[in-house]
Amino acid sequence: VGWWDHVAPAAKDPINGVTEAFLADPSPFKINLGVGAYRDDKGRPVVLQCVREAEAKIAGSEFLTKMVEESVKLVYGKDSDVVKEGRSAGVQALSGTGACRLFAEFQRRFHPESHIYFPDPTWSNHHNIWRDAQIPERTYHYYDPDSKSLDFAALMDDIKNAPDSSFFLFHPSAHNPTGVDPTEEQWREISYQFKVKGHFPFFDMAYQGFASGDLDKDAQAIRIFLEDEHLIGCAQSYAKSMGLYGHRVGCLSILCVDSKQAAAIRSQIQQIARAMYGSPPVHGILLVETILSDPNLKSLWIDEVKIMADRIQRKRTTLRQNLEKLGSSLNWEHITNQLGMFCFSGLTPYQVDRLAKEFHIYMTQDGRISMAGVTTGNVNYLANAIHEVTR
Ligand code: PMP
Repeated sequence: VGWWDHVAPAAKDPINGVTEAFLADPSPFKINLGVGAYRDDKGRPVVLQCVREAEAKIAGSEFLTKMVEESVKLVYGKDSDVVKEGRSAGVQALSGTGACRLFAEFQRRFHPESHIYFPDPTWSNHHNIWRDAQIPERTYHYYDPDSKSLDFAALMDDIKNAPDSSFFLFHPSAHNPTGVDPTEEQWREISYQFKVKGHFPFFDMAYQGFASGDLDKDAQAIRIFLEDEHLIGCAQSYAKSMGLYGHRVGCLSILCVDSKQAAAIRSQIQQIARAMYGSPPVHGILLVETILSDPNLKSLWIDEVKIMADRIQRKRTTLRQNLEKLGSSLNWEHITNQLGMFCFSGLTPYQVDRLAKEFHIYMTQDGRISMAGVTTGNVNYLANAIHEVTR
């Protein structure tokens, strides 16, 4: 008795809260644009064909441990020096969240006085992850609400004004929640300035393939930093790109000066993981490594990533066209300019509330629309509703 009397409920998670409200709504017209999980054009969750085939293949097979090796090739490029020279310290992680958490813990152990700079805004869980690892956060300018695009000048100023050797987190493609990414030229300038300042870039790669439909193209930011010989960290997730949300497969890698340093770092991260959860579940890892190391399954996967990215892109076009056809006096170009799974609509919290109460359409308070929830069947209804609340 009395042990837990002082425990109050935790603050509601901004994303999970949306799903709860959606589930509680009995309306047949309801739409969930909250959670960033891919859905097909009928609004159904998708099991990729490459995953079905991998399931059949792995029955009875051994644990191969090629997942990490294949993952680093995917992000750094299969012919990159870091891969060939064994200079990446890679470990399996519990999806993207787990990879970030392992890194934050590693950062605290070996740079206990450091901070982490997040883009403003960023995925809400980044704040929780680094807070729980006791790394204080700072933010850098990223999104400009007026132009609904990147505030590049302010971003560069923040990079220049940060103390030398600061840790920065970047979304390498399909930024969550804004759908706004730097251009190739801008990444080159960022990378250059990182050299000048000696900053450490940590890339949280949760949507490889979802911005352009092409896995290599979406790794372009990272490849630019590699060309400039940065030592970087990277969290990878297969939740979105392979539709393996519940399997929790991911990879954390940290680039090193040589393979000896990589071995030391790998052993330290493994030790952190061992104390947190022992070892990760193997089934999803087997699926991922089977897909990545079988050329037929890999090319099937590449096609399926493109299908997902293209479907989302088409829905962006349709949503924008419908709003324009309805005679909206507002500018909706950002719907098609932004990339990846999310559209940062610019809807105000009041308008978001009206969409939920009057139209049964649910999204996070910041006006982020998960484009994966938009379908041929609901896009007209959605456009109408957005038009009504913004007129
Ligand atoms: N980083 C970002 C930017 C994300 O959007 C997400 C998923 N919402 C993640 C990491 C982690 O996802 P998961 O743990 O499901 O791989």
